[in-house]
Amino acid sequence: MMNSVSLYKIFLFCSLIILLSGCTPEADPLGQDNTASSNVDVSKMNDTISVPLPDNTTINYCHDFCSFVQGGENDKIEYNQSSKLFMCSCSDYAYELAVKSEITPRDLQLYNQRKIWWADLPITYRVMNEDDCGDYEIKKIGRAFQKIITATEGVVTFQKVADDANIEITCKYIQNCYHKKIDINREEKVIYEYESICAHAAGFAKITKMEGFVIKKATIDLIGLAGFSETTGTGASGFYVGSCGHPSVEVHEILHTFGFGHSNNSESIMYHQAELVPFTVQQEGACIGSEKSLEEEAEELRSIYGHN
Ligand SMILES: [Zn+2]
Repeated sequence: MMNSVSLYKIFLFCSLIILLSGCTPEADPLGQDNTASSNVDVSKMNDTISVPLPDNTTINYCHDFCSFVQGGENDKIEYNQSSKLFMCSCSDYAYELAVKSEITPRDLQLYNQRKIWWADLPITYRVMNEDDCGDYEIKKIGRAFQKIITATEGVVTFQKVADDANIEITCKYIQNCYHKKIDINREEKVIYEYESICAHAAGFAKITKMEGFVIKKATIDLIGLAGFSETTGTGASGFYVGSCGHPSVEVHEILHTFGFGHSNNSESIMYHQAELVPFTVQQEGACIGSEKSLEEEAEELRSIYGHN
């Protein structure tokens, strides 16, 4: 079957992309000198008092903190002599530095109590460039928030606002990703139409402001394919292609802003490949089973926010 073969190839390619870039579309191709931060600076260790070792809580804190940062697949602790605090660095699969932050005593105290959480409900959101997103994607974003509200039985709520939102959503587009191929099989007398898309990250979420483990602000980039209905008035929607119409990427990215990391369960909405457009649009059957479960995450959200 050609269909499954091409799906399989895309699947493999996605895996490769993840390994190479940690599903970060904006990874710096130059690499900068992030790897340098993983080297111990011996000069600062000379003739000073011995560097304290992090305790288990600090080690676990940094590990969990990095798992909340997209692209924070690797964590590393360093001691800052001037502030007398440990620093937690998170880097992605390619060792690109994602976040580096101080670990304060308050962070550890909050960490010992509970996981990270949004400070207030409803959590406000704003689409920064509604016109660019187009009606289709705006509706899809709305459906994603509604889906989380429904799954948490109304425990978690959201509100769309005009400014100063907790979650800022931006629609972005990539070019030349969509391809259509027509194969005529003379023996079978069948014309096969293949629509395929390049492997690309479909979304990118980042918690941008925290106080301890309390989340204050986050950003989400949603990545569509340029040249579709929402931009030109012809063809399929660039946010439809690869999504089968489900707001899976949108829900996935919103859940990242709650601190959920990736799951190894391929049925889960937080599956690590979920934002890499896992489906091509071919025949109708290709969409069967493409809707992902958020029951596990919803249950956790109900327990965290249900008492507020
Ligand atoms: Zn993700």
